[in-house]
Amino acid sequence: MNVYDSARMADVMAPLGYVSADSPAEADMVILNTCHIREKASEKVFSELGRLRMLKEERAREGRTLSVGVAGCVAQAEGEEIQRRMPHVDVVVGPQAYHRLPSLLEEAARGQAGAIDVDFSASAKFAGAGEGAARGAAAFLTIQEGCDKFCTFCVVPYTRGAEFSRPVTDILDEARRMAAHGTREITLLGQNVNAYRHGATGLGELIRRVAEIDGITRIRYTTSHPRDVDDDLVAAHRDVPQLMPFLHLPVQSGSDRILAAMNRRHTADDYRRAIGRLRNARPDLALSSDFIVGFPGETEADFAATLALAQAVGYAQAYSFKYSPRPGTPAAEMAETVAEEVKSERLERLQAVLNDMQLSFNQATIGRTVEVLFDRPGARPGQSIGRSPYMQSVHATGAARGTLASVRIDAAYNNSVSGEVVSSDPTVPFGASDGGERRITMEGIG
Ligand code: SAH
Ligand code: SF4
Repeated sequence: MNVYDSARMADVMAPLGYVSADSPAEADMVILNTCHIREKASEKVFSELGRLRMLKEERAREGRTLSVGVAGCVAQAEGEEIQRRMPHVDVVVGPQAYHRLPSLLEEAARGQAGAIDVDFSASAKFAGAGEGAARGAAAFLTIQEGCDKFCTFCVVPYTRGAEFSRPVTDILDEARRMAAHGTREITLLGQNVNAYRHGATGLGELIRRVAEIDGITRIRYTTSHPRDVDDDLVAAHRDVPQLMPFLHLPVQSGSDRILAAMNRRHTADDYRRAIGRLRNARPDLALSSDFIVGFPGETEADFAATLALAQAVGYAQAYSFKYSPRPGTPAAEMAETVAEEVKSERLERLQAVLNDMQLSFNQATIGRTVEVLFDRPGARPGQSIGRSPYMQSVHATGAARGTLASVRIDAAYNNSVSGEVVSSDPTVPFGASDGGERRITMEGIG
């Protein structure tokens, strides 16, 4: 979501003459787009701000300027502390107020040190979304924001606010503009994307509508919640060929006791059943999840249930984290904390299992020919990187950026596969022209 939000910030800054820069050293303005989900993510913001202060001072000695902004959830949650501890920060802008960046910058330029907007009135920030520069062959589109679920460990309901679904017509307009700019794959985004509902339209129906847009050949959505997998969404997996056979469906834990303490409001069996319905509809569906280890009160038996669930489901990839207490959340007050070394040891064991699964999944695609949308340059000359339908990173030579190609997979690694281009469907390669005079970098911190 921060990647999408950074693209939106670049859009609203474009009329002021800002274009993207590759690094802070060549930028006139640096915006840190921040994540507050775990403690480590927010700590990084303060150390990065320290580095930017030095850069700003260096510039001042040369008689030049550098504007510094902080955006995202750390700005939302700790905006005032940022202003107090980091007076060199010009602008603090919460995730619902990006459209106000230009006026905040103006305020800062008029000497109102530390212009801040952490207002929660959603939606205005989406005005004109998609009118900016081309976003890439594969791009994000936010359809829903916020969360009403209040898992006991999570700051999202506090930093991103209540659930809000964008109107269908706005989303389709933005998707059409993206298609016209050459985007082939759209990932529909939301903190709780399958809670999307506008009028009578839920996510399944929205996916069907997006699939009707000329030029959009692939659709994905993230992040979804196991409780909101309704029949219409399951049917979309069966009926919509553009909907890719990959789903990130976080479970967090395999223990019902821990799931209850997390307030996930589903059991491990509910989760397995949701997966079963989805796999019935789309047998080749590849899955991914998030896991938290060391939640307060987690015993070895609870953790064993998590390992067992992971093994029973079989994931193509997954993310796993040590529980990180977040101030203001109910879990942060829970007494039975798990020792740091136990957390580390469990994380290692879980990651070993998940890495093995990921490698086996990648190996199982050797010899198959899959459609790959190439959207990034590779490390070697002539090499490009793209995504398979199953979200694997695919490396191949001879495929132009922005093209969809059939690739025969011939080698598998932990985090990627590689193969040979069998045939490709040339489309307009990507690359917006530069030419503005002011440059901006959006540094994602998370
Ligand atoms: N809405 C999504 C998740 C959004 S947060 C869902 O409900 O699944 C992304 C991931 O960060 C979560 O799935 C969780 O695994 C992790 N996470 C959130 N808060 C955390 C915390 N306090 N400590 C460790 N991991 C956390
Ligand atoms: Fe956080 Fe996801 Fe739970 Fe919402 S559903 S509180 S975003 S983990």
